Amino acid sequence: FLKGKTAVITGSTSGIGLAYAKALAAEGANIVINGFGDAAAIEAERVALEQASGAGATYSPADMTKPDEIAAMVHDAEGRFGAVDILINNAGIQHVAPIEEFPIEKWDAIIAINLSSAFHSIRAAVPGMKARKWGRIINTASAHSLVASPFKSAYVTAKHGLAGLAKTVALETATFGITANCISPGYVWTPLVEKQIPDTMKARNMTREQVMNDVLLAGQPTREFVTVEQVASLVLYLCRDEARGITGANLSVDGGWTAQ
Ligand code: NAD
Repeated sequence: FLKGKTAVITGSTSGIGLAYAKALAAEGANIVINGFGDAAAIEAERVALEQASGAGATYSPADMTKPDEIAAMVHDAEGRFGAVDILINNAGIQHVAPIEEFPIEKWDAIIAINLSSAFHSIRAAVPGMKARKWGRIINTASAHSLVASPFKSAYVTAKHGLAGLAKTVALETATFGITANCISPGYVWTPLVEKQIPDTMKARNMTREQVMNDVLLAGQPTREFVTVEQVASLVLYLCRDEARGITGANLSVDGGWTAQ
């Protein structure tokens, strides 16, 4: 149902973003993937997306800490495919440390990648969406856009900010056929979660098993990690015409975490 539409997905060389790209490609959209990683592996993903979609797939190496590269990613996609109809702000990193020891450069990087990059990409993409009177802007926020956890000051701040940004953009674009929403997963098993286990072990003086069961899944009443496919299926729904009434929302996929 997305033939002729173009989706730009930041941070889509891995994890949730890659699952979004696969789901949108399966519906026939042109895809722009973005993110870091092994060049050959990224090229293999790009080719697979093109084959799955029967449409185009390109890779943008834009660094989400660089405003000019972010705008160029959006404008290049418009040049190549004629439009950016679906913009998914998904790139994100994590750092776990008590606030008094939180490295200043990690704070700056998390605010840039997890929050400001969405401002820059939306700013670049909205004029085209307004002109065409159709657009879908989706930010991958987090349960941490609604509640906090200790030792994640930068991440929780950035994710709360993303939720506010989506609401503001929803109001500004409401009469233009554009929706702007957040999807807020709980713990999804991806490299981002796997990588924070050692630091959490250190910060809380716990074993790997204790971190998984007593920290990560302790707050998730289903006691299961959310899957990337579950999150991607919500993106597909938000891209349907039937979802045009959903805007400014922050939709949880968190196994009940924020119901508590
Ligand atoms: P991941 O580490 O698998 O993927 C992150 C992606 O962002 C990768 O493609 C990486 O290359 C890219 N990236 C990192 N820095 C970048 C930069 N400077 N410029 C461009 N790309 C960059 O992580 P994930 O778990 O798939 O996370 C995706 C999003 O989902 C993040 O915003 C994360 O905060 C959010 N999220 C994840 C979970 C979870 O449990 N995994 C839960 C809630 C929200």
